[in-house]
This record gives sequence, C-alpha cells and structure tokens, in this order.
Amino acid sequence: MPRKRIPVVAGWFTENGSGDDFRLLGTRCSLCSSVFFPREESFCRNPSCTGGELAEVPLSRRGTVWSYTDGRYRPPHPYPSDPDVPWEPYTLVAVELAAERMVVLGQAAPGVGVADLAVGMTVEVVPGELGSGCADDDGADDGGADDGGATATWHWRPVAADDVDGAA
Ligand SMILES: [Zn+2]
Repeated sequence: MPRKRIPVVAGWFTENGSGDDFRLLGTRCSLCSSVFFPREESFCRNPSCTGGELAEVPLSRRGTVWSYTDGRYRPPHPYPSDPDVPWEPYTLVAVELAAERMVVLGQAAPGVGVADLAVGMTVEVVPGELGSGCADDDGADDGGADDGGATATWHWRPVAADDVDGAA
C-alpha cells in the first residue's frame, strides 16, 4: 500500500494520482499577467502594476537549468531534519520557466547529482518526497513523516535528450 503523501506546504502543487498530472501551482495577476511562485494571494508584487485578481495557475512542467549546487550541510531549524538520522547531501536546482519568466528552486530527483546536470539542460517537475532524515514533527496524526507517512514535495529531473523536443 502506498504511503500517504502529505504536501510539505499545502497548495503549492497538485497531483491527481498519476505523475503526469503533477504540477506546481502559482498565481497569475489578471492585469499584468505576472506569475508568482510561491503563490501570492493578496496583491500583485509587480511594482508597476496597480493590481488585479490573482488566480491559481499551473506552472510549466518543464524548464531549463539556470543553476545548481549540492547541499552539504544539515539545514537549520525550522527545516525538518531528524538529527538522529545520518545526513545525506542533496542536490538543489534552480530552474528557469520561460513562459512564467521565473526561476523555481527545488531538489533534484533521487540519484541525480551535480555531475548529471548542466546549465541549459531541460528538466521536468516530478513528485518527490523529503528524505527519510526529515520529520514533520507536527504532533498531528495526519499520516505525515512523524506518523510513518511521506512528506510530499517536488523534484526536478533531467529530460532525456531525445525527448526534449517533444510536447512539454
Ligand atoms: Zn499585476
């Protein structure tokens, strides 16, 4: 039985079972079309915009690597990290989404390291889980990491070169 997935932050992404449906969710200003991620609910942050309605919008599934690095230290509180579990370095990727004109950070998919990445490479967003060294420690019986569940997040995964020209 698959473990229950609890979003690390509610409303930042959507998934309806199949990984193909997995999308990050931002908000778009109806007046200037600026897109915000993390989502902005209250006002348009574009200083030259007088503000419009902010509507939820799914972000592009694919983007290009803008930069990347590996995290070789345990992140400080309040990032969830269990000091009793050995720390494993992770790879962090900054991905440029052309349509939204923004850069979105995220961890690389498991098994993808800095040696597998290059600036300009096409990557796609996939469902991911925070590592087993993480605990949500919210005290709630909600199926989260402290209850043996999985803390759901997103990962960036390189797209095979022969698939890059396919539909995004
Ligand atoms: Zn605006």
